[in-house]
Amino acid sequence: MGNCLFCKIVRGEIPARKVFEDDEILAFHDINPARPVHFLIIPKRHIASLATVTDADAPVLGHLLAAASRLASEQGSPDGFRVIINTGRIGHQEVPHLHAHIVGGPEPVGPMLKRIAPTA
Ligand code: 5GP
Ligand code: ZN
Repeated sequence: MGNCLFCKIVRGEIPARKVFEDDEILAFHDINPARPVHFLIIPKRHIASLATVTDADAPVLGHLLAAASRLASEQGSPDGFRVIINTGRIGHQEVPHLHAHIVGGPEPVGPMLKRIAPTA
């Protein structure tokens, strides 16, 4: 995908602070971290979002999730972390290349979502 930001990172056309890579996945620090530990793990092959995956993508997605715990520990969040995969418009996905945010750090990351006030 020529114009995709994260494909450009995979190809080395845009720099990123890499955490880990192998043939299938790449992990790199988020440019605008929300917590002391905040990195992204992506499949190297372009997949637009979790909404477009097929069964053929299951192995790489399993591999991606299996790497999360080890990488989170190595990055300074050994006692847990949160995985966020924003998906599509409703999920507020800004970069259309599937990515898992791994967020954590020494302090708990806080409640999952702020509850929207009920409408009357
Ligand atoms: P989304 O809202 O799509 O789930 O999150 C996209 C994330 O990518 C954001 O947290 C944003 O800070 C991060 N990001 C956007 N552009 C770049 C970039 O060029 N390099 C890195 N390392 N992260 C980026
Ligand atoms: Zn891409």
